Amino acid sequence: MSNPPPSTDAAWTLLKLVRWATGFLQKRGIDSPRTTAELLLAHVLGLDRLQLYVRHDQPLVQAELAAFRELIQRRLRREPVAYILGRKGFWTLELQVGPEVLIPRPETELLVEAALARLAQTADGRPARVLDLGTGSGAVVLALACAAPAHRYFASDVSSDALATARRNAQAAGCGGRVAFFAADWLAALRATGAPFELIVSNPPYIARGALAGLQPEIAQHEPPLALDGGADGLDCHRTILRAAGGHLAPGGALLLEIGADQRQPVQTLAERAGSYGDVRCLKDYAGCDRVMVLVKKNIAAH
Ligand code: GLN
Repeated sequence: MSNPPPSTDAAWTLLKLVRWATGFLQKRGIDSPRTTAELLLAHVLGLDRLQLYVRHDQPLVQAELAAFRELIQRRLRREPVAYILGRKGFWTLELQVGPEVLIPRPETELLVEAALARLAQTADGRPARVLDLGTGSGAVVLALACAAPAHRYFASDVSSDALATARRNAQAAGCGGRVAFFAADWLAALRATGAPFELIVSNPPYIARGALAGLQPEIAQHEPPLALDGGADGLDCHRTILRAAGGHLAPGGALLLEIGADQRQPVQTLAERAGSYGDVRCLKDYAGCDRVMVLVKKNIAAH
C-alpha cells in the first residue's frame, strides 16, 4: 500500500482505521468506501459491523493490521467484497460464495418472487416439482426451498465446483434434504420420459461474449465467465433452455427465465419459435428493467 497507515503502532484504534481506510478506498475509486472498510475490518476481527462502533476505541495488534492491509489490497485489485468475505446475503439466506460461482444479485430476487407466486397459484395441495437450471451458489433454489418447503426441488449445474458450493449452502440453510443437486448441461441429462416439472427456473449466463471484457473489473476479472458468457449474442443459453424446457414441463407448468434488460424482444421471438409456450409475459425489476420472462406451457389441446 503506498500510503503510510496502517502502521503497526498502537495508535490505530478501530474507528481511526475505518476513517483512514474509507478515505483511502475513496481516493482509489472504490464503491461504497465506508461500508467496504467496515465490512473488511469487521471480517478481520470476527465482529459484526455494529460491534466496530461499540469498540471504536480498541487498538489493533500488528497481526490484525497486516490482515486488514491484505484485504484492502485485494479490494484495490477489484476483487468483489463478497468473494473477499466469502459470503453474500440473498433473500433470507447468507450464502457462501467463491470465484467458482456468480455472486447472487439483488435483481434475481425477482425470479424468486415470481416463482413463489407461481407455486402459490398452481398449488392444488400436492407438492410441485421444481427445477433450477444453472444453480451456481444455489441462491434461487435454496430461497425457494426455504420459503416454500412443501415442494420437491431439483437443481443442476455444469460446474462440479459450483455444485459443491451449492450443496454446502443447502446444508447451512437447513434445507439440504429438500433439494436434489445434479451435474448437467442444462436439460441434456433429463430423460424425455422422466416425470415433468410444474416449474423450471433459471438465471443463465446472458452477457454477449464481446461485451464481457468491457464490464466493470469486479465482474470481468473475478466472476466466472462460465456463469456470464451467453455466446455471441448473449442468448445461447436461453435458446437451449427454451427449446428443451417445454418437453419437461407439466401441463400448466411454467418456465421462469432471468434476462438482460434488452433481451425481452429476442427471448419472446425465441419462445415463439420454440412453439411450446402459450402465455408469455415479462416482469420488470425494481430498477424498472425487463428482468424475468414467465412462459407458461401451451395447452396441448390448443395446438
Ligand atoms: N446480472 C448479471 C450482470 O449483469 C449477469 C448475470 C447473468 O449473466 N446471468 O452482471
